[in-house]
Amino acid sequence: MRTEPLLHVFLVSFPGQGHVNPLLRLGKRLASTGLLVTLSTPKGFAQKMAKANNITDDHPIPVGDGFLQFGSFEDGWDDEDPRRAHLDQYMHQLELAGKPAISAMIKRFAEQNSPISCFINNPFIPWASDVAESLGIPSAMLWVQSCACFAAYYHYNHGLVTFPTETDPEIDVQLPSMPLLKHDEVPSFLHPSTPFASLRTAILGQFKKLDKQFFVLMDTFQELEPEIVEYMSKFCLIKTVGPLFKYPEVPNNTIRCDIMKPDDCIEWLDSKPAASVMYISFGTVVYLKQEQVDEIAEALLATGISYLWVMKPPAKECGLPIHTLPEGFLEKVGDNGKVVQWSPQDKVLIHPSVSCFVSHCGWNSTMEALSCGVPIVAFPQWGDQVTNAVYLVNVFKTGVRMGRGEAENRIIPKEDVAKCFVEATVGPKAKYLKRNALKWKAAAEAAMAGGGSSDRNIQAFINEVRKRCTGTTMNHVDNIDAGVSIRSNRIE
Ligand code: UDP
Repeated sequence: MRTEPLLHVFLVSFPGQGHVNPLLRLGKRLASTGLLVTLSTPKGFAQKMAKANNITDDHPIPVGDGFLQFGSFEDGWDDEDPRRAHLDQYMHQLELAGKPAISAMIKRFAEQNSPISCFINNPFIPWASDVAESLGIPSAMLWVQSCACFAAYYHYNHGLVTFPTETDPEIDVQLPSMPLLKHDEVPSFLHPSTPFASLRTAILGQFKKLDKQFFVLMDTFQELEPEIVEYMSKFCLIKTVGPLFKYPEVPNNTIRCDIMKPDDCIEWLDSKPAASVMYISFGTVVYLKQEQVDEIAEALLATGISYLWVMKPPAKECGLPIHTLPEGFLEKVGDNGKVVQWSPQDKVLIHPSVSCFVSHCGWNSTMEALSCGVPIVAFPQWGDQVTNAVYLVNVFKTGVRMGRGEAENRIIPKEDVAKCFVEATVGPKAKYLKRNALKWKAAAEAAMAGGGSSDRNIQAFINEVRKRCTGTTMNHVDNIDAGVSIRSNRIE
């Protein structure tokens, strides 16, 4: 008996933890409905993922009714290549090597009777959608930041709103359906002073290719950003599918893609009273100045708050010194605190002992905290973090602000740090933040549950992939949620 190959969705990710995590979560969700999903990343990154997670073979792993497998492609440079430290050079190289490598991979799948029906990339690799187009494969993008940040990039790209410039760097920015953003609250890559101009170029590159993609999937949910999702849906086929962190359990949901093995800390959390531990982590890229680490440590000593602190070593290619803690700090704290190099953040945030999250406000961390009902001490540095902090503090109302971002070029003194820590953990403000956080947790669960807004959107996406694959004329799509009729990805 001849069996038809499963519908095959190909995911390609920029090599960053904050990029691959949501894409893997989406991949598992898609696979669970009976699809074959391949998640591909550059080889060095894929090897780290495989090592940290004991991924030993390249056979498809069963997930619900479907399968997930990992793939990798060469970026053409040795792991130790010093040019990796220069993001702009690496971005160029990734495109140069990635385009032909991915194209070859996709052709190989077709030869093996497992052709790709749909292609999904995340931002920072805008060239990926060119590969899909050249092979005639429908493609979509998973936007891994908020819809508010999407709107900021969209408006900047199309010159629709005035942003800070070299000559006028401190103007406020008013985007439609959004709160007024101060100059240091717009995604910092759009600011003329950003040291990460190559990331601005990469992200804007994606916006120039939006019309090639049949859907923009977003790791957010309708109820979290209702006005801006509705507004931006007039211009793009947006499908909010988040929080992907929170999708219902399916068998084999345990596949992970961390690039470091998590340290043991759950047992330690188990030994702590409910809502007593502050979780501190600044994500995978931010690396604080040593002086700031000292001030945070002093604040912990002064307040006596119990903590779990992720002190990730700096990336080798950055050549930065490893953080140290003040002399005698660990002895003074004793079992009241724990320092790890990498945590299983998903498990930490749902742990009942965790009271709040001191975070750099990366979008994954933001969504994970909201989904778990955990208030935030917001310490954004750059990129979308500064905009996410505005939303956490002023819109979602689950956060207190500890800093404005790297651009203020200031070490937050221990007294101010301690004040924020106390505010977020004891007293009426802490209760208020927790109440709001729990509301978002419930809303996030409802969005992902069967029939919820994100669940319906994922289903609509899968239906679309199936229809496109079976050759139905899909130039016409009704965007039910936005209430607009769209032909060939354009508003009529
Ligand atoms: N993360 C983790 N353990 C850690 C630190 C981070 O699992 O010790 C995960 C976290 O759950 C999130 C991702 O790494 O999914 C970081 O993404 P985010 O967007 O928050 O920040 P980025 O690292 O991209 O700045």
